[in-house]
Amino acid sequence: MSGCLSIVATPIGNLEDITLRALRTFRECDYVLCEDTRMTGKLLSHHGIKATLRRYDAHASERVHEMVLEDLAAGKRIALCSDAGTPGISDPGVLLVARARAAGSSIEAIPGPSALTAALSLAGVPGNQFTFLGFVPQKKGRQTFFATLPEVVQPAVCFESTHRIMKALEALLIHPTATVMVARELTKLHEEVVVGTPAEVLAHFQETPIKQKGEFVIIFRAT
Ligand code: SAM
Repeated sequence: MSGCLSIVATPIGNLEDITLRALRTFRECDYVLCEDTRMTGKLLSHHGIKATLRRYDAHASERVHEMVLEDLAAGKRIALCSDAGTPGISDPGVLLVARARAAGSSIEAIPGPSALTAALSLAGVPGNQFTFLGFVPQKKGRQTFFATLPEVVQPAVCFESTHRIMKALEALLIHPTATVMVARELTKLHEEVVVGTPAEVLAHFQETPIKQKGEFVIIFRAT
């Protein structure tokens, strides 16, 4: 028997953004590891799938990792997903994948949505290079992060939360001629893409405070 760990991408908002292969994997696996069983439960019930859900998040213990590795060795098929998007992209999964790979387990990717690629696909940026910087640092290193943005391969893409989006846009004012794109609530009802100089984009969100709520991807271009 050969077990397999399937890394399954799930919707970043619109529940229809899921591949046939992802749905089949959820249907056929022995259990699903997910960050929040209620959230994944909602997705699966939307698609009429009943599966055993087990919690796996950033705080998963050594014991949990061992149990998963034992199950893989015993031939179980295990799906791993996060709350939204692709596991391992600023989401749990990296450690489990590394452990499974070191143990010689079979691992497969079930690709699909990610806020990173969705935002880039809307950005219309020239060239085929970009730098993904993950989440903007919350405290330490935040100033340096914004100051050194023009030094990375352009465009620079980062995630920001609703709590800090305005602070991030204010910090970007140090690059007055840069172009910033903010992709908000992608694939959801209030999806919005705002492009302009840092001052223009900041003004847009200041004018309508309700728009400061949601999930955000920032794409920065110095030139
Ligand atoms: N692994 C996920 C992926 O591949 O999309 C990213 C997970 S990370 C914990 C969550 C961050 O992704 C949010 O804070 C936000 O910056 C971004 N994000 C997720 N969904 C989004 C959406 N629908 N619209 C814009 N940004 C989103």
